[in-house]
Amino acid sequence: MSKANNPELKSWVEVKADSDFPIQNLPFGIFKTNQTPPRAGIAIGGFVLDLKIIAEAGFFNSIQFDKTVLSQPELNSFIACGKEVTNAVRERISDLLTAENPELRDNTALKAKALILRSDTEMLMPVNVPNYTDFYSSKEHATNVGIMFRDPANALLPNWKHLPVGYHGRASSIVVSGTSIHRPKGQTKADDAVTPSFGPCRLLDFELEVAFIAGKATELGTSISTSQADDFIFGLVLFNDWSARDIQKWEYVPLGPFLAKNFGSTSSPWIVTLEALEPFRVDSPIQEPEVLPYLKFEGKKNFDINLEVEIIPEDGMGKVVSHSNFKHMYWNMAQQLAHHTVNGCNIEVGDLYASGTISGPTADSYGSMLEISWQGKNPTQMPDGTERKFILDNDTVVMRGYCKKDGVRIGFGECSGKILPAL
Ligand code: CA
Repeated sequence: MSKANNPELKSWVEVKADSDFPIQNLPFGIFKTNQTPPRAGIAIGGFVLDLKIIAEAGFFNSIQFDKTVLSQPELNSFIACGKEVTNAVRERISDLLTAENPELRDNTALKAKALILRSDTEMLMPVNVPNYTDFYSSKEHATNVGIMFRDPANALLPNWKHLPVGYHGRASSIVVSGTSIHRPKGQTKADDAVTPSFGPCRLLDFELEVAFIAGKATELGTSISTSQADDFIFGLVLFNDWSARDIQKWEYVPLGPFLAKNFGSTSSPWIVTLEALEPFRVDSPIQEPEVLPYLKFEGKKNFDINLEVEIIPEDGMGKVVSHSNFKHMYWNMAQQLAHHTVNGCNIEVGDLYASGTISGPTADSYGSMLEISWQGKNPTQMPDGTERKFILDNDTVVMRGYCKKDGVRIGFGECSGKILPAL
């Protein structure tokens, strides 16, 4: 394990106990300020460390790579340098920020330039996403949906335990946390209506997901095995796969999600590296029946990441409506990547692979309002006296995630989005 993960490490930068960004995390993102154009940064406590400034000061001289990748408005070129480089940069930053290291700590002028208050920055999408795939890998979620829409006795379709079901999503409408989204309009058909009607979506929902960002490309025709998969995963983000349930219900047969999904998906801005998450690996659930050989794997492939979803009305108090955990996933990321490429499908740097809605085993751990309100039959009471079956106009949905072990807490920052009225 990298020495950057050492729980004993302390930084000379002040980091509050409940911060998502202690020295053991050091996630990568793209930020801008009133003075600086978009470029690469690392989060530490309440600050962003400007990696361009750090490079210009010569702190990366021992690492061989084109330093101009740090001045680009997305991380793709930096990530494409490979883990040898990106891990070396993270480890060098860890070293620079360690309490005992005076190199940057005692350089007041440089420190003032390189450390920017996070509240003075605007975060942008960390990568240009060439391709987006959404899986459906939570057994609890798939079971809940199967019970609601099909047969409670046969909630999972016959293929579900044999392969990680997924579909190709829309990359162009993925937006960074903080971006508002207008309620989509579309075709819906009520059960008792003869013909469909057109109008604003009435059943707007979130889906609590975690996504991984691909760090390495493959050639068309080649595959990634489960044992190679970690090498292709740069890091993880929180992801809200906004869903228009009424549009989805009418359009999805027989080819699956389309306009019910592609009006917008929200990503958190900081990519937490797979290396930072190493201490939080846990065993995967037992898979029964046994999977085909190309889906078998060794070692701990799930991650213990606490997740929550809060709904915040326009002028009211918010309410956390779900506490879930990424460790519940039946299909892990290595299996998803092995399955995705087993036919020779190529992947690209910056591709985003989302987990599917992450529901836990209990009603307070469901990852969508569809399940929390059980199709609207069980509304959630909000502190302001209103109730929610689905998401209303001017509601903000905030997702958060963090891991905790050995006194170290590393988090993802917020994945937040506000729903504006339909245009
Ligand atoms: Ca989804």
